[in-house]
Amino acid sequence: MEPVLPVYPHNSRKSGNGMSKHHILIVDDEEDIRLTLEATLQAEGYKTSLAASGEDALNEIRENRPNLVLLDVMMPDLDGYEVCRRIKADNETRNIAVVFASAMKKTQHKIEGLDMGADDYITKPFNMPELLAKLRALFRIQESQWRLEKLLDFAHTINIIELSAITSTISSKLKGFITADRFSIFIKDDDTGSLKALVHNHEGVVLDEMTGESPYSRIMTKAMETGKRVMVSNFTGSEYDTGAGRVKYEDGFALCVPLTAGSETFGVLNLNGNNRGFFTQPDFTTIELTAEIISAALNIALRVKQLKTLAVTDGLTKLYNHKHFHEVIQMEFERAARYKQPLSLLMIDIDHFKNVNDSYGHLVGDDILSKLSTLFMGHIRKTDIASRYGGEEFAILLPQTSGDKALVLAKRIREDVERTLFDTEIGNLKLTVSIGVCDSMQSGLETAIDLINNADDALYQAKDAGRNQIKISATEPGTA
Ligand code: GH3
Ligand code: MG
Ligand code: MG
Repeated sequence: MEPVLPVYPHNSRKSGNGMSKHHILIVDDEEDIRLTLEATLQAEGYKTSLAASGEDALNEIRENRPNLVLLDVMMPDLDGYEVCRRIKADNETRNIAVVFASAMKKTQHKIEGLDMGADDYITKPFNMPELLAKLRALFRIQESQWRLEKLLDFAHTINIIELSAITSTISSKLKGFITADRFSIFIKDDDTGSLKALVHNHEGVVLDEMTGESPYSRIMTKAMETGKRVMVSNFTGSEYDTGAGRVKYEDGFALCVPLTAGSETFGVLNLNGNNRGFFTQPDFTTIELTAEIISAALNIALRVKQLKTLAVTDGLTKLYNHKHFHEVIQMEFERAARYKQPLSLLMIDIDHFKNVNDSYGHLVGDDILSKLSTLFMGHIRKTDIASRYGGEEFAILLPQTSGDKALVLAKRIREDVERTLFDTEIGNLKLTVSIGVCDSMQSGLETAIDLINNADDALYQAKDAGRNQIKISATEPGTA
């Protein structure tokens, strides 16, 4: 079975018989010893190379970066201690494990060797089973160390609060230490409670398309509900296979890890591969740690994003608030002027709204304000900015929209309001709105404030003319 996760540098993938393909450099000035070790280690599935002197060893290390050096201590010219010192002094090579092999059995020699930075020490003549066991243990440690460094780097880079920066870090780094062919992260939407894709590397799939009925809906739900990771080594035909959107991943594994904040599960990390999955305990530890790091980073970033949204949103209507509207209109006004594009503004005010409050109470009034806002949103484009300008007055800013087009929209809104029965706790209510329209191309108009004032003047002309109507600003700024 091919191990899928995680990966460790230098050809650590295991060969068909399950043995390691780590690269070991054998350094000894005696040819007999080199050849015996070579035969034994190759029989175990290791890749080997040989060096007869300290100089040769350093050259081989520089060129081919073995995972481990089996190093004779007593050699003419450069001895083992000096070779080890140089390996450990060089940042590029210090992670290569060094095992001294020496005929010197005294404890003092072993201590000296280990203090040089060697990772282990064995004595000649070799006890082969002991040597092989030591090598396996060293490779496990080396692999853990390598993973830890990758995770630390990942944690360090992801420690940012901008959501887009986090997702791009995940995109660029995750595959560096977790070799699942595909990953995806889904986050629970607070409003709808459903899972929404945040980032993924599924080729040819648009982010939005992942949301909704994903092939992984069922496995994700299970992980969300239990707060525990769920793994199937063969996803196709498993109890979690919804059959939805299946295309290229016949026979692959699926691993779904919850993302948590305290006791709450707020999302999942999916890992998928074309191979059937095989995971060791360290693999799972790496994945769980990765999920923890992602959880911590996302949790903060999502909260910050929430706070930012809250700061620009009107609580009752969920439209933008007055403050944000003023910021946006300044920006949009400058942009429109620079690119000589039209920009229009609708000011909308509910007619005789005081009567609604006086007759049915404030709560009914609030309900109407909220429902009316939903009605507005149904008429505008994503790029338009609808805000609650004041109590029962609304401003809708329409970038790249001429006065004519704005007038058409105003008519549609006025008519829709007029014919709508607003469903409230005291029954259906009817109401009307008055609308003032102004566009930035109007002559004499110089600032965003002029645009607002003119739309406002037009609105009051509509009120004066009897309400439930639309007026376009025709006045020069400041002359109304
Ligand atoms: P007009 O046609 O001239 O606009 O008449 P009007 O009654 O709508 O205007 P007026 O300015 O006299 O009254 C506005 C009313 O809007 C008064 C206030 O009770 C109500 N209002 C403003 N903000 C809110 C709110 O947040 N909730 C509720 N329920 N009512 C609000
Ligand atoms: Mg009013
Ligand atoms: Mg008013």
